[in-house]
Amino acid sequence: MTQALYLEETLFKEMEKKDIAYGAHVLVFPLPVQGHINPMLQFAKRLAFKGLKVTIATTIYPAKSLHIGTGLLEIEPLSDGQEGAAMPREKLLGLLTDGSGTLTRLIQKQEGSLNPFSCLVYDSIFPWALNIAKQLGLCGASFFTQSCAISAIYYHVNQGKLDLPPSATIISIPGLPQLRISDLPSFVSAPESYPSTLVFVLRQFCNLEKADWVLVNSLDKLEDEEVRWMEGLWPVKTIGPTLPSMYLDKVMVSDNDYGINLSNPNGEPCQKWLDTRPTASVVYVSFGSVANLKADQMEELAWGLKESNKNFLWVVRASEQSKLPKNFVEETIEKGLVVTWCPQLEVLAHSAVGCFVTHCGWNSTLEALSLGVPMVAVPQWTDQPTNAKYVEDIWGVGLRVKVGENGVVRREEMENCIIEVMEGVRGKEIKKNAGKWMEFAKEALAEDGSSIKNIDDFVAKLINK
Ligand code: UDP
Repeated sequence: MTQALYLEETLFKEMEKKDIAYGAHVLVFPLPVQGHINPMLQFAKRLAFKGLKVTIATTIYPAKSLHIGTGLLEIEPLSDGQEGAAMPREKLLGLLTDGSGTLTRLIQKQEGSLNPFSCLVYDSIFPWALNIAKQLGLCGASFFTQSCAISAIYYHVNQGKLDLPPSATIISIPGLPQLRISDLPSFVSAPESYPSTLVFVLRQFCNLEKADWVLVNSLDKLEDEEVRWMEGLWPVKTIGPTLPSMYLDKVMVSDNDYGINLSNPNGEPCQKWLDTRPTASVVYVSFGSVANLKADQMEELAWGLKESNKNFLWVVRASEQSKLPKNFVEETIEKGLVVTWCPQLEVLAHSAVGCFVTHCGWNSTLEALSLGVPMVAVPQWTDQPTNAKYVEDIWGVGLRVKVGENGVVRREEMENCIIEVMEGVRGKEIKKNAGKWMEFAKEALAEDGSSIKNIDDFVAKLINK
């Protein structure tokens, strides 16, 4: 048995003794959607591994989908009136504005117990949760599941310091590279399209000065200037990338999976299919858990993939399947596999995968960076255009497609970008950079790495509080 495995097993056995008093009890409270639960759950696992008691509070549907090692975390399912079904968008918006009664009751339930909650790690999208933590005597850590660059942009909009005249072409924001309008998050570049969501993303900063910590799923090297800018305003700690330990530092040996899928993954067929393909020959395509492509965009993407003549593994969620061109799956059966959901980390880590056509959700971006997979960036909305800008121009780990008429990326553009990344001159440079960033990601979580030091410091402060 390796030293790490031995330590982990011993620790978990200890933790199963429910009647011990812990140095601190942390309540972790994410927005119940895949892209927010994944990083916050991983952070929760790290804290538990470091010997803290950790409870994760989430609504019944994700709570039921959680599969994590015994004794590692407590799970507190919160009633949401959905009888265990996924939360519809309107309800999610309700939770964004007010879940305070439920959260207060949950914290008060533990008062007077052997391990009352001492710290709340809340999703930054729930600023009201910090007020509750403070009222009930807990310290509060805001957890940002978005990049520091995105926080800087939203902060400046919220301060009224980012006025976008219609003629603006280049936008300068402290701590950030120069941006074009098309590099901004969609809530900022097209605020009229998402008025309610803009309000929520701006509110993340409304009381942030009261937070004891601001935790960010990023790493210092990746956003050097941006992190420094944030540090000038808040007690920031980068703690990412939050991939399962076995993809990075390999210290938590049973942590080889996020432990939650809100859709059913077809793991085995993907793995078997990838095993039959040559090294770096497959284009993996996914637009994450939320984005909906327009039907004509889906069609262009499909034919672009076919024309590239590459092997491809494409995640098309069940709700998107009807937009696939007729007979596409049958016509491309030799080269392609279309699934409704897959274990993305396993896929990205597979040696057959040579390129990731991605919407540039922040988790997908960090996962590709950490696993050294070159990207073709096809951003759709929210923070994705900004992430895509960094992927192409700042980190040099991919190409961003050019959008054609009516906002649709044409098939030739898809095909050209895929071929350039996989075989072209720029592809060579991109692969080199991807390898470099993979090393930096591992370094951040290795002994004495920037993120692991920040996590250790957070744990030490909580225990000594
Ligand atoms: N994911 C997955 N299987 C899939 C597609 C996505 O496991 O078929 C995971 C992916 O690894 C990532 C998360 O879902 O951790 C998506 O988060 P991201 O921030 O990339 O995008 P969002 O879904 O929030 O738009």
